[in-house]
Amino acid sequence: MAFNVSRVREQFPILKREVNGQPLVYLDNAATSQKPQAVIDSLVDYYSRYNANIHRGVHTLSQEATDAYEAAREKIRAHFNIEHSREVIFTSGTTHGINLVANGFSSLLQPGDEVLVSAMEHHSNIVPWQMLCERTGAILRVIPMNREGSLIMKDYEELLNEKTRLVFVNHISNALGTINPIEEIILKAHQHGAAVLVDGAQACSHVVADLQELGVDFYVTSAHKMCGPTGVGMLYGKESWLEKLPPYQGGGEMIAEVTFEKTTYADLPHKFEAGTPNIAGGIGFGAAIDYLNEIGFDAIREQEESLRDYATEQLLAIDGMVIYGEGTAKTSVISFNIDGIHPYDIGTLLDKMGIAVRTGHHCAQPIMDFYQIPGTVRASFAFYNTLEEVDRLVAAVKKAKMMLS
Ligand SMILES: *Cc1c(COP(=O)(O)O)cnc(C)c1O
Repeated sequence: MAFNVSRVREQFPILKREVNGQPLVYLDNAATSQKPQAVIDSLVDYYSRYNANIHRGVHTLSQEATDAYEAAREKIRAHFNIEHSREVIFTSGTTHGINLVANGFSSLLQPGDEVLVSAMEHHSNIVPWQMLCERTGAILRVIPMNREGSLIMKDYEELLNEKTRLVFVNHISNALGTINPIEEIILKAHQHGAAVLVDGAQACSHVVADLQELGVDFYVTSAHKMCGPTGVGMLYGKESWLEKLPPYQGGGEMIAEVTFEKTTYADLPHKFEAGTPNIAGGIGFGAAIDYLNEIGFDAIREQEESLRDYATEQLLAIDGMVIYGEGTAKTSVISFNIDGIHPYDIGTLLDKMGIAVRTGHHCAQPIMDFYQIPGTVRASFAFYNTLEEVDRLVAAVKKAKMMLS
């Protein structure tokens, strides 16, 4: 079926809201996406019809809940073209997935080993690795970026050496929208025997990552960035890595046998899934994947690219406008400032006009330091946004500029 944005918008109840007396224009999709009725229904359906704990009951509700939760795992496996469903670990989100891997590497790194992080990471793909380096004596090195907002690949190649054990980089930057060349990053790392973790939190709503084709060692994402619920996400790890890493948390569900002398761990994926998980969230994650695939990622890309191109052109026509990360392959994120005006002031005025954008460092302070700015205004578009909404953004930015300068 052809993409029809007004029909799509009808499926998102929140888009009918007014904010400060104006119809809501939601342009903070990079922070979290809105939820279609199908996802909301999947949560309500679970809690109203078959709420029960999973993997342990003999009773009917528990069996239904287990089946639905495992069906969601299978949807995730298929969507990301993962070989085995036991390589799909449910997490509470990207941050949890990264911490799980970073913690696991504590026992695998030696003092003097090197790990590489990119200059454009979210704090959640920096801090856990700094903590890992403090625990192990490994050294954190940074792959630099240029003014256009791209990683400098020549420098990356020079940083790789026989001591490099791990590389972690985002697939798409949440602060700039840059699409990183992860195929090449993975290939080069593997030539040096280093493993790669890709943070896919920002990518998952825009592109479908084929994880077998990429050959990536770890890939993490959050459901809430792709129309799913908050508090649930996935960690993909190659089976050989997941076998090697120790469990992250101990508790119920993750054991094979417990005595006070010794506990043995459950097989994958349960080894990493201690305690009662976010069952409704997992089921909703599956519903979100179904929903996005029904819309189709080609249609999503087409709509988002047209919004990005139109908004870029219109915004650049405003005097004093600077867009960061303009000269690179990027998704529908526009991070900008207007000369002499604090981003927070623009954001506050936009909210008064019903427009939701993000202002600040976007959990990526090193990028702001690189450009020597306190932060940016970030408008991030989803497929359910419209060209009329871009017009409202541009008119509002012009008005804010007039009021503030
Ligand atoms: C949102 C985001 C994260 C953090 O995700 P959580 O759901 O808060 O754990 C990490 N990296 C990137 C690139 C993101 O966009």
